[in-house]
Amino acid sequence: MGRVTASLDDLPLRDDLRGLTPYGAPQAPLPIALNVNENTHPVPDAVASDILDDIAVALRDVNRYPDREFTALREGFAEYLGHGLEAKQIWAGNGSNEVLQHILQAFAGPGRTAFSFAPTYSMYPLLAQGTGGTWVSAPREPDYTITVEDAVAQVKHADPDVILLCAPNNPTGTPLGLDVVEAVYDAARGIVVVDEAYQEFAPKDAPSALTLLEGRPRLAISRTMSKAFAFAGARVGYLAADPAFIDALRLVRLPYHLSALTQAAAVAALRNSSTMLRMVDEIVEQRDRITATLEALDYLPHESWSNFVLFGGVADPKRTWQELYDRGVLIRDVGIPGHLRVTAGTEGETTAFLEALASIESGA
Ligand SMILES: *Cc1c(COP(=O)(O)O)cnc(C)c1O
Repeated sequence: MGRVTASLDDLPLRDDLRGLTPYGAPQAPLPIALNVNENTHPVPDAVASDILDDIAVALRDVNRYPDREFTALREGFAEYLGHGLEAKQIWAGNGSNEVLQHILQAFAGPGRTAFSFAPTYSMYPLLAQGTGGTWVSAPREPDYTITVEDAVAQVKHADPDVILLCAPNNPTGTPLGLDVVEAVYDAARGIVVVDEAYQEFAPKDAPSALTLLEGRPRLAISRTMSKAFAFAGARVGYLAADPAFIDALRLVRLPYHLSALTQAAAVAALRNSSTMLRMVDEIVEQRDRITATLEALDYLPHESWSNFVLFGGVADPKRTWQELYDRGVLIRDVGIPGHLRVTAGTEGETTAFLEALASIESGA
């Protein structure tokens, strides 16, 4: 082995996967990494040792398969989400990406379509195509909002099997009104998923789509521990929906898909959610500081309810990205002309980004 024997083209790959590119945000070891919307604050020491205690206990039984129904974890999520939710309305997976994959496996797939409003989360088309489905997108308004009238018209026209609404939207940060979710649900015959990966960073009085679950069996709200919870490396995502919806996901998941160690770590992290989420207010403060400073530097930041800011007014995004990289700062070129996206980091990281950017001639 060790010799290159074939290229991808030589292999009997599925026709519908030919020519696709895998997800590939650069993982460069730079001192300031603000490119994938992680919480850059490490897990607090006291919580880390509490989590380790639980993992140590779980490890003693690791010769056995884990609880296939991850009961304690579902109870933990139901309690964390509130809104009167019960464990039978909760599902979880290895990241919300896996949860979304389960939804697409159960409700989209071959001969069916998944739909969203672009630009949006770059994993949606990859997940739709990977599960054998067709990806369809409709445009947003120039400021990346979605109006009720347009959403209803586009959904009726596309008539999709699964609709993914990212709220707030990645990579733009744009909030989504619940009036749009309700109207899309009423206009659609398919599943409606509201991806609330960034909900914890929205204004505290902004209602979650969880408030719409009652009486809407085709609606699901997905969340993740990867962003606000500072738990991206543990890979834990979850959703809330009608118990029948959860039963559909049981048909496609791999048995024992959540390892005993993952379950133990997530249950312990949830038990410490107030400490784990302590950094959210500070991150929101840094996000708003980024927006204000970008404006002062004559860039055009978009309104954000998340932990990142998309900004326009970048004459040459590739060049600015590279010049930041050369200064040790990694941000994201999401492929929107004239734009770049940056995650709000710690105060120090945010300062490093803003100073590096200010030192670059914008050329706009
Ligand atoms: C980061 C992100 C996720 C979370 O992915 P995980 O698999 O839970 O890490 C989901 N949706 C959106 C829109 C995201 O930006």
